[in-house]
Amino acid sequence: MQILHPFAGSVQQYIAQLSDPDRYRPDHCPQCQTKHPLTAHGFYTRTLSDTVFDGIIPVRRYLCEACRRTVSLLPEFVLPYLRSSLTVIALFLVARLLGGQTIEAACRTAPPPMPYQRGQFWIRRFRAQAEALGATLAALIQPPPAPDFVHRALTMLESTGWIAAHRFLFGGVRCHLLGWPRGLAPDGRRAAFSPAATPA
Ligand SMILES: [Zn+2]
Repeated sequence: MQILHPFAGSVQQYIAQLSDPDRYRPDHCPQCQTKHPLTAHGFYTRTLSDTVFDGIIPVRRYLCEACRRTVSLLPEFVLPYLRSSLTVIALFLVARLLGGQTIEAACRTAPPPMPYQRGQFWIRRFRAQAEALGATLAALIQPPPAPDFVHRALTMLESTGWIAAHRFLFGGVRCHLLGWPRGLAPDGRRAAFSPAATPA
């Protein structure tokens, strides 16, 4: 299970603080809810493509001794299962869908260089997700008048701040900004949008 790393800062600051396993050690298991601090359980690595960083980052993993399942702490500037940082995806979607730029121009607005198809893929997923996003974000911010669900959701994300919105969506209600990948049991496990759900 992936949960949000309770850390806010740059990629470099994130990497610098990872060496101390106690600093952000979860004090309970988000899966079986056992109230016992989790055991540090190494790292896995993932790629990250950001405006100021393009490479591999470590992600810290913890083990619950009670249920024997692992929890990884994902930094808040990445979205689960996507290589590009939230900043890059936000810049691209705003340039294309709010700013009306072509996909090629939007790709240039959101460095580093990436394949055209990746932008198309984000747009497709965002469109499919926009109505549900707007409904879920209404817990944070008044939905503005907008010509369609895509504009409404983007305007709400811009007003809230993409990282703050992601923190609420993923950390609070297990909603993926671009939708959980097909085939993955949603929420990482659960499908429904339920703003009333307690943080998992
Ligand atoms: Zn557990």
